[in-house]
Amino acid sequence: MAKKIRVLDTTLRDGEQTPGVSLTIDQKLEIARALDDLGVDVIEAGSAITSKGERESIKKVASEGLRAEVSSFARIMRSDIDLALECGVDSVFLVAPTSDLHIKYKLKSDQGKVLAAISDCIQYSRDHGLKVDLCTEDGSRTDLKFLLKVLSEGEKAGANRFTLADTVGTLLPENTRNVFEKLSAKSKVPVGVHCHDDLGLATANTVAAVLSGATFVDVTVNGLGERAGNACLEEVVMVLKLGYGLKTSIKTEKLRQVSDLVERLCGIPVAPNKAIVGDNAFTHEAGIHVDGILKKPETYELIKPELVGASRRFVLGKHVGLKSVQALLNDLKIKVSDDQLKSIFEQVKYTGDKGKKVTSVDLDAIAQTVLGSEKECKIRLEELVAVAGNKFTPTASVKLRVGDEEVVESSVGTGPVDAAINAIRHATRDIPFELTDYHVDAISGGSDAIVRIEVRLKSKDRIVTAQGTGSDIILASVDAMINGINLISTYSE
Ligand code: MN
Repeated sequence: MAKKIRVLDTTLRDGEQTPGVSLTIDQKLEIARALDDLGVDVIEAGSAITSKGERESIKKVASEGLRAEVSSFARIMRSDIDLALECGVDSVFLVAPTSDLHIKYKLKSDQGKVLAAISDCIQYSRDHGLKVDLCTEDGSRTDLKFLLKVLSEGEKAGANRFTLADTVGTLLPENTRNVFEKLSAKSKVPVGVHCHDDLGLATANTVAAVLSGATFVDVTVNGLGERAGNACLEEVVMVLKLGYGLKTSIKTEKLRQVSDLVERLCGIPVAPNKAIVGDNAFTHEAGIHVDGILKKPETYELIKPELVGASRRFVLGKHVGLKSVQALLNDLKIKVSDDQLKSIFEQVKYTGDKGKKVTSVDLDAIAQTVLGSEKECKIRLEELVAVAGNKFTPTASVKLRVGDEEVVESSVGTGPVDAAINAIRHATRDIPFELTDYHVDAISGGSDAIVRIEVRLKSKDRIVTAQGTGSDIILASVDAMINGINLISTYSE
């Protein structure tokens, strides 16, 4: 088995085929740079045939001077390869349908013609200085004899790699091992695997292929991709590393950061319980777990959070025990008396019974209140004016007290709430954070309803949630923002 497994990332091609995802040229470039920095070996930057804009972005990625090989998708047609050449890529991901189903119904062709087109396109690409990764589309439902024929003809024509695509996610780990054992026994070039997650087996099948000789894994960040998505980069890399001691060039401590970037730019939220990069992947709630973690993290953590660039969070709910609260307060370096501890514990329980979770940030706030030493709020709102109308650009101005200073700022926005939040951001520009979530709940009915605004702010590896309540949605939003920024600035001191 190869010592090092190569990673081909197709977030910018297969990942962008996720329903609802469309990236701008600049966004694609930003993701490509992040992938390069993460350490992927090949970036499939897009499909040159798609559009002029797509070619523009592939060109930009290809001319960025990245360390990674940059590739474009191409069908087995010379015209596709010409367009890829126009983009200045290093290689083509040459996709040839090989199953009877695809050849007969999609191409309305036959095996002989497909083989001829494959050979022609490989030679044509190589003659023009491109590397070729020959990928068999629907390879997992292709007759093995023909599959091996495609492999040998492809090698003869000069293919540099051979990838089997499980295009509709039909493989199971056992038959993955079977087919890859046969392919790698015959192949003179590196073998790659491209899996889809229709049965939730993309990661397992990708790993099974590697154990049977594949040395290239096709993956996407967050498992984005058509339908149920592709094999997911962070899972495959961590299974190879922790499960089998196999190396890749991925700097795993950047996984969370890249996942966050792709989540933000693609607009597809990562499930909280997603392995490796989900928000709950390193969050502990139940009393016994928290107690164990504080004594020895290995009791309830398989992966050290810092290994994947994540951070550990504790959430206290109704299962919380007095000991956990005490231990967490110790962890936060807050000293309390027995009476104070009881009072803090009761408040946490009370909140938990209402079905809410208390994060360590909330616990800190509760403790400070109980201790009567509420931290001096660094930022206070003194004035807020927001205007909107149908012939008016929504505008807001704020006067804040930041420490001893008075700061006045104004801004426009898509509406008065947005304008007010933008003004706050300008006024607090020295405190770096990102607003990752804004949520409105109407607590009572009617147009005079009390609303609760919850914001989630992210600063470095810390996430805080803060709330604002009131009947004025603009003021409540501003309160939530200021509460959140105060929490962040407390922690960054
Ligand atoms: Mn695919």
